[in-house]
Amino acid sequence: MTRVLQHRSAGYIWGVVASLLAVLPAAACSQESIIGASTSLEPTVILISFDGFRWDYIEMVSTPNFDRLVNSGVRARSLIPSFPTKTFPNHYTIVTGLYPEHHGIVANTMWDPVFNASYSLGNRDAVQDGRWYGGEPIWVTAENQGQISAIFFWPGSEAPIQGVRPTHWRIYDGTIPNTARIDQTLEWLRLPPEERPTFLAIYFSQPNDVAHEHGAESPEALAAVSEMDELVGQLLSGLDADGVSGDVNIILTSDHGMVDLSPDRVFLIDDYLDLSTVDIVDMGPVTALIPHDGRETEVYESLAGKSSGVTFYWKEEIPQRLHYSNHRRITPIVGIADETWTVTTRPRFEARGLRAADHGYDPAFLSQHAIFVASGPAFKSGVVVEPFENVEIYNIMAHVLGLTAAANDGDLQRVRHVLAD
Ligand SMILES: [Zn+2]
Repeated sequence: MTRVLQHRSAGYIWGVVASLLAVLPAAACSQESIIGASTSLEPTVILISFDGFRWDYIEMVSTPNFDRLVNSGVRARSLIPSFPTKTFPNHYTIVTGLYPEHHGIVANTMWDPVFNASYSLGNRDAVQDGRWYGGEPIWVTAENQGQISAIFFWPGSEAPIQGVRPTHWRIYDGTIPNTARIDQTLEWLRLPPEERPTFLAIYFSQPNDVAHEHGAESPEALAAVSEMDELVGQLLSGLDADGVSGDVNIILTSDHGMVDLSPDRVFLIDDYLDLSTVDIVDMGPVTALIPHDGRETEVYESLAGKSSGVTFYWKEEIPQRLHYSNHRRITPIVGIADETWTVTTRPRFEARGLRAADHGYDPAFLSQHAIFVASGPAFKSGVVVEPFENVEIYNIMAHVLGLTAAANDGDLQRVRHVLAD
């Protein structure tokens, strides 16, 4: 058991942590069908993700539009993300019902030893290459069963997966105004019945970005929460105007939470490790290391037990509850930081310090939990339920859409209580 790490690709890890992708939804319903008889609409799901939207943000600032959906629908006290609590792994879990070790997007930055290739959020070729994405996202399930999907940004939606793309999708461009994403979604819902999507998704990159920069509970982060609430308001107003707000099912969710870092809780990895012995694929709350051949034990022993703030595991020894041992893209050694701790290098730390807040930690920490609110004819009304895992959302959506779900890690019986009788 020896493995060592070296510095092959530290560069790309860093660039992209906060950035990401997104998704957007589109929805559809025919206008005329709605006016007199709302029941004429096909079951429709609009899935919206707000990156880094921690479960308790709606209690920290006024969110009248979220509140409208909470009151008319069902809210989980929190949504339990999958490990690692990072953006791409969790967005792709939400749409497949699979843990990252089963769908293959095991991090935002990865090395695949069979492809002999790397994946990162800024690598457009990789992001749009379907071979990286395992499992079956809900839009593929829908398209294969004769329904239409429309996505305004979502990790994975830019690639053909199993050879299938959403009918409507967009290349990620963070400069596209959030309001335009809502407008397009409303347009999609106004298409004639035979063209109208039944599954729509939208992604927004906030409050994640400002929380990373200013702090998990900073005024800037909370202002972003208000902005996201206004977008929900824009959607609801549009649906109201079109007379369909009672006919569509809306799910508001997020990929993970956020917690503040501290310069007192940093593990400077190069103080312990000879960087010429490993490739560092990723660093931060989760550190992914590929030791050079023959240096495995040396690398592991140079790191294990050196800090109370970071536990280094052989891949095979990662606690089973994290579901993070069984994929070739999970590196031989993984460092998992305790909440609020992080891993970086001394030169980087001295040059740039730390970001204000981060995520990626064990989903057992409440600070990493996300949000789940669902409202519409398919859901219970005025109900708050206990936290559940985000692997359950795929089955919920498939059920509401009347689709036969692909094999996945969720179990509809565990979340049936969110659904209307
Ligand atoms: Zn995220």
